[in-house]
Amino acid sequence: MNIKAGIITIGDELLIGQVVDTNAAWISMKFNEAGVKVINRRTVGDDTKEIISAIEQLRLQCNLVILTGGLGPTSDDKTRDVLCSYFDDDLKLDEEVLNDITSFFVGRGRSVTDRNKDQAYVPVKSKAIRNPNGTAPGIWFNENEFNLFALPGVPHEMKAMLQNFVIPQLRSMHDLKPVIHKSIMTIGLGESFLADMIGGIESKLPSEIGLAYLPGPGMVRLRLSCYEPGLDTEMVMQGISDELVITIGKRHVYSQEDEPIENALSKLLLLNSQTVSVAESCTGGNIAHLFTSVPGSSDWFMGGVVAYTESVKNQLLGIEKDLIDTHGVVSEEVALAMALGARERMNTSWSISTTGVAGPSGGTLEKPVGTVWVAIAGDHGVSAKRFTLLNNRERNIELASMFAINELRLMIEST
Ligand code: ATP
Ligand code: MG
Repeated sequence: MNIKAGIITIGDELLIGQVVDTNAAWISMKFNEAGVKVINRRTVGDDTKEIISAIEQLRLQCNLVILTGGLGPTSDDKTRDVLCSYFDDDLKLDEEVLNDITSFFVGRGRSVTDRNKDQAYVPVKSKAIRNPNGTAPGIWFNENEFNLFALPGVPHEMKAMLQNFVIPQLRSMHDLKPVIHKSIMTIGLGESFLADMIGGIESKLPSEIGLAYLPGPGMVRLRLSCYEPGLDTEMVMQGISDELVITIGKRHVYSQEDEPIENALSKLLLLNSQTVSVAESCTGGNIAHLFTSVPGSSDWFMGGVVAYTESVKNQLLGIEKDLIDTHGVVSEEVALAMALGARERMNTSWSISTTGVAGPSGGTLEKPVGTVWVAIAGDHGVSAKRFTLLNNRERNIELASMFAINELRLMIEST
């Protein structure tokens, strides 16, 4: 039997927008990976009537319902009592849960309050789901073919319980076929342009494989999905992915894995045992920020200079005042000199520099807002490329950073 799942997230704070409902999205994602189809989601307040009506509504369409939130020890937490009344049940003490709660507090050098002890009472017809990261146990009702799991609202408690208990239980009850996804990460091409480019491949896709366009700033993630995978699905998908890469071209595809560009670059640098440094003007340290957000980046990222003013460009990177006076600070010549200066001073295999007009002011006819020069220095010497970006400061910083990283990726791949 196929599972049709519904998710109910509970909490007044979700309805007023004070807390963003990340639980529903996360559960949907994990279920999708596991091959459980989510067909409906509801969010309700800490209100008995609303919770019951959401369960009743989802029960009409779903044979699996996941609830999160409202399992805590305070008076605004209603889920356990609501479930008792919905399933016409009473509470009983669960010794195992009481033990868990006691050791949770003892382990933290605190004594257990009656309020917390009360959490060890679970509905008679249900099974308690142990919570290794908190005090509220989860509650599992199984009635004929219908399953309902209530989990705490605290994201890391809910996540551990869903992954370690709920999904394994579902696997043991149903033959779940995991969905297969494959991502192709493109950069620097608009969505509709890309669609025209790969229209031929899209129209020939096997019927069980779908293609989605998921655009982000400066990039579009292409995602191939198959919900009914066969034995050769992964191979077929890899073939389609390779064809997409050839059609789109390497300049605009930075990875065939779902990852940001800085992660793709980090793999290349590690593979080649190379290092990088940065000299950033218009990106203001954003490239260094992206690099340092990759775990283990100290193996390949040596450091950077945010050379925002002429005096810092001069003192820390050795850019002559004459060069700036002759060509302007946003120029190919200054970009080249910045990359060379950074590489020499920080003694790295590669160096990236950026100089540009991020906006909203500072543009001229010749160098409008969005003009950015990116240079890459390496063993080959140094080379630069001009980009003409947008009218939005934040986006320009973001795009210039990604495109600069992409230039280094291309350079490494071609050497
Ligand atoms: P506890 O035992 O900690 O009281 P609980 O089951 O009662 O757990 P809630 O009180 O509803 O859970 O929520 C606890 C916290 O978890 C909230 O303060 C909120 O920050 C977070 N939270 C609740 N629901 C969600 C959700 N759907 N998405 C993200 N965070 C959530
Ligand atoms: Mg609570």
